[in-house]
Amino acid sequence: MTMPAHAPYAPSSFNRLMACGGSHELAAHYPEPDEDEDEGDGEAAREGTAAHWCGELLLTGQPLPAIGSKHANGIVIDKDMHDCAEIYADYVRSIVPPTAKIEVEQRVLCGIIHKDCWGTFDARAFHGDQGYRYCDVFDYKHGHAWVNEYENWQGVGYGAGSLDMQTEVPSIDDSYIFRFHIIQPRAYTRGGKIARMWEVPAGRFMEYVMRLRNRIQDIARGGMPCTTGEYCHYCPARRGCEALHVAAQHAAQITRGAQPLDLTPAQAGVELSILMQAKKALDYRIKGLEAQVEHDLVNHKAVPFWQMERVEGREKWKQSDADVIKFGALLGVNLAKPAEVITPTQARKLVPSPTMLNNMTDRPHSIKLREIDQNATRRIFEQS
Ligand code: SF4
Repeated sequence: MTMPAHAPYAPSSFNRLMACGGSHELAAHYPEPDEDEDEGDGEAAREGTAAHWCGELLLTGQPLPAIGSKHANGIVIDKDMHDCAEIYADYVRSIVPPTAKIEVEQRVLCGIIHKDCWGTFDARAFHGDQGYRYCDVFDYKHGHAWVNEYENWQGVGYGAGSLDMQTEVPSIDDSYIFRFHIIQPRAYTRGGKIARMWEVPAGRFMEYVMRLRNRIQDIARGGMPCTTGEYCHYCPARRGCEALHVAAQHAAQITRGAQPLDLTPAQAGVELSILMQAKKALDYRIKGLEAQVEHDLVNHKAVPFWQMERVEGREKWKQSDADVIKFGALLGVNLAKPAEVITPTQARKLVPSPTMLNNMTDRPHSIKLREIDQNATRRIFEQS
């Protein structure tokens, strides 16, 4: 029997399922392609698929598709995808010793979690060094929304499936280290680190695996409540979710009730956190309702206050860049852009000494308000 492409319990949904157990049952009523919840939906998800393809080609030693060519899903390959794929592939190769095999885009069965659980990791390698055995799982995110690597349940899912298949390992002890890496070239926040690693010895990692397993088994029995949070953003059930509906109404009330007051720093901090949560709940609800209203209008059902209208996109060439340039040459005009330089990261690989470029490059930065990540604080205490 062939397995369906999407598992009933896919690692890409684990961060949501660990937070909102009821979403699995509810989402069954709103089926949606749901490859990787952090990459977004619709156009963003297809762009993520095309970007992953570029990364896969580089890691398997194949040439990148030409800029301007199309992925099978219709998305045009752009320079940003090339640059990001190079950052991803360089990072993976910087972690995995040249003698170890890098597996790319392989399905992993996670029977230890549930019989209906499987997923496709971006890259993985097993290798050893000085008495330690490593299982490195790499997850490439093309989206802008920052994803935490620490206690990442998608990673736990891939790691569980990977340890499961290690039949040659006589015992899973703490010389066996699981490392989950997130590579996010376009998330320009939180200290600017585009690649981040969560490292956990196997003994401790198995505690996470058991927590995940128990949670998924509970969900499979049904009747779990729905709990709203930032994972609602990509939840397929968001347009039919009562909990999100109530949270959004509550958020609207809070927003309307806000009064200008002379607040202490502590009061201002707490109120800002509450309002930010409220704003997120409203955003998720709006996104879900937009999908429903759009669906109804496209299917010729009238929706009060709303209509679909044609929006003109930017004019684009239908031919390849090379053909357009040739056509211009025939007419005696130059239709090519002025030459562009490659990125500093690419240039560092070409010049004899990368430090030669230090005075020629800059990393723009600014300061902005950000909520303290409670997980990061906990992680610091755990590691000390
Ligand atoms: S929208 Fe949010 S609260 Fe509702 S089922 Fe999905 S994740 Fe749970």
